[in-house]
Amino acid sequence: MVEQKEQLYEGKAKKVYATSDPDLLIVDYKDDATAFNGLKKGTIVGKGVINNRMSNYLMQKLEKEGVETHFVEELSERRTVVKRVEIVPIEVIMRNVVAGSLSKRTGLPEGEKPSMPVLEYYYKSDELGDPMINADHAVAFGWATDEELKVIGATARKVNEYLVKFFAGVGVDLIDFKIEFGRYHGRVILADEISPDTCRFWDSKTKEKLDKDRFRRDMGGVEDAYGEMMRRIGLSK
Ligand code: UDP
Repeated sequence: MVEQKEQLYEGKAKKVYATSDPDLLIVDYKDDATAFNGLKKGTIVGKGVINNRMSNYLMQKLEKEGVETHFVEELSERRTVVKRVEIVPIEVIMRNVVAGSLSKRTGLPEGEKPSMPVLEYYYKSDELGDPMINADHAVAFGWATDEELKVIGATARKVNEYLVKFFAGVGVDLIDFKIEFGRYHGRVILADEISPDTCRFWDSKTKEKLDKDRFRRDMGGVEDAYGEMMRRIGLSK
């Protein structure tokens, strides 16, 4: 068993602790919610528990598909041991249906389906509001190597293929999602989280939103939507 040591960092949705093992960290998921680069703040009661458990569940599924992730061990409802990675400062977004910023940028209506999944890169910078970049920017400015981007791109597409099928099986359209990667002993592995905070989930039949857009857009029923996603997956709440 790893022992929890000092807090290293407190982010918008998680606290991160050092452990007795220099290769491992403990993350502690909070109920705090932010949107629009921190401009909108609130609480989603029970979110920390849901995101921790859902993300761990999906990461373990992905491991079985041959995707290395940072997941090590779930300690409690909110706390998980993860591999200590150096985060690649790029947010990777995969899109199966037009929504959110893609709709704004292109003028295409939300709900339109592109002819193939679309991969996007954003530079992780709160100061700049996470600007969209391309592969050349990432390599030219030293945020990732060409080799790392190949692994990141291929992994993102594989994760998308798996998750689209998985969620279709529980009556949910995976509209888009954001993932992050980290460097661990020379490899690039899947890190951060996969949850209703970082994915867009629409009910396949009714197209009802079951994700953080309910918070971003003041739609109400946020906690119910997160809880419904847990039930769909078969994780009791
Ligand atoms: N996303 C995220 N963190 C971010 C930005 C986006 O998890 O900082 C997720 C978001 O939940 C959605 C997808 O990435 O599932 C695409 O988001 P989009 O670019 O449309 O941005 P938004 O409209 O949410 O600002």
